[in-house]
Amino acid sequence: MNQAESERLEALLESRGYLPVPGTEEADLIIINSCVVRRSAENRALNKLMLLRHLKKKCPEKKVALTGCLVSDDLEALKQQYPFVDHFFKAGEKFCFEGITDSDPGELPAQASVSSPVTIIQGCNNYCTYCIVPYRRGREKSRPPAEIAREAETLVVRGAREIVLLGQNVDSYGQDLPEKPDLANLLEMLNGINGLWRIRFLTSHPKDMSLRLIEAIASLDKVCEKVNLPVQAGDDEILAAMGRGYTAEQYITLVESLRKAVPEIALTTDVIVGFPGEDERRFNNTLRLLRRIRFDGVHAAMYSPRPETLAAKKFVDDVSKDEKKRRVKLVEEMQAEIAGVINARLAGQKQEVLVEGRKKGRWYGRSRSDKLVFFEHSGNWSGRLAPVTIENTSPWSLKGRIKQ
Ligand code: SAM
Ligand code: SF4
Repeated sequence: MNQAESERLEALLESRGYLPVPGTEEADLIIINSCVVRRSAENRALNKLMLLRHLKKKCPEKKVALTGCLVSDDLEALKQQYPFVDHFFKAGEKFCFEGITDSDPGELPAQASVSSPVTIIQGCNNYCTYCIVPYRRGREKSRPPAEIAREAETLVVRGAREIVLLGQNVDSYGQDLPEKPDLANLLEMLNGINGLWRIRFLTSHPKDMSLRLIEAIASLDKVCEKVNLPVQAGDDEILAAMGRGYTAEQYITLVESLRKAVPEIALTTDVIVGFPGEDERRFNNTLRLLRRIRFDGVHAAMYSPRPETLAAKKFVDDVSKDEKKRRVKLVEEMQAEIAGVINARLAGQKQEVLVEGRKKGRWYGRSRSDKLVFFEHSGNWSGRLAPVTIENTSPWSLKGRIKQ
């Protein structure tokens, strides 16, 4: 979501005559888009800010703005802490500074990426006990379907072939709108856009994923067979302490329904290791769940207490850093093995690859199931669908060629 918001800011600035420069030394205006979901991300943003403090001393005429989840409601405290920052604006808020006013719903890039993000819902009402997002991005606010459709159509006219619908919890899309459309309604509407080839959405919440949505994935031709369904833990006590609203068994049942309706579906997930109270037995329950489901991809993160959250206030961060590291490594090793086997099955198969660009002399793009695919070819495949026969596989990407 930060990446999508940065792209929109870039489009806004370019439409007002700004040009990108290689580094902060050459810049007139510098915007830091921060993420604080984990301590490590927050540290990265803080390090950048410290570098800017020095730069601003040397060149006070440069303007510095700070956005993203580092920007809390307490602007006064922020101004005191970072007096060298000229402008603060909250994540997702319009940019109004230096005579630039962001219009509603915001500026779109003149040249859209082949795969373009479209935010459909801001904020989150879930308050998982470890998560800072609801405190920094506020409560859920859905965009009206007609506005989303207009934006998707414009992006397609400007070169997009795939849109990725974004939200912290896309499954609760529309519940705050008067007509209460849901994500399935929205997908159906967007599926009719001429020139649009693929639709993805991110991220789903297991407690909110509906049968209607599963049916939409199964029946709508442009909706890709891939779901990111963060499980976070495989132990019921940890899940309850996280406030996730489902048990491991309920999660497994949901995955079974998805796989029954869409047998070729690819699934990825997020896991937090070292949540307070996660002893060896509870961690093993997570490993067991991962082994049982066999995801296409797992993103494992070490728990870090975040300010304002219930978990930070109520629980002791009782798993050591070294132990968290060991657990992440175990998850990653196991996952590499599983993904290696899943991807190896694709060898010899033809995959439809939406080509996004070139890297190191090779074309790259994604299959419908979101696998990264590389191939070599002398033609120009940019923004096209390439029929690639897979020849080599690894846990992380595939390689193939276009057969004549
Ligand atoms: N809304 C999505 C969900 O329900 O899972 C994900 C949003 S969250 C911004 C992205 C990921 O960051 C989460 O899936 C979680 O694994 C991780 N995360 C959030 N808070 C964390 C924390 N305090 N420590 C470690 N990882 C965290
Ligand atoms: Fe954070 Fe996602 Fe939970 Fe919302 S649903 S509180 S964004 S982890």
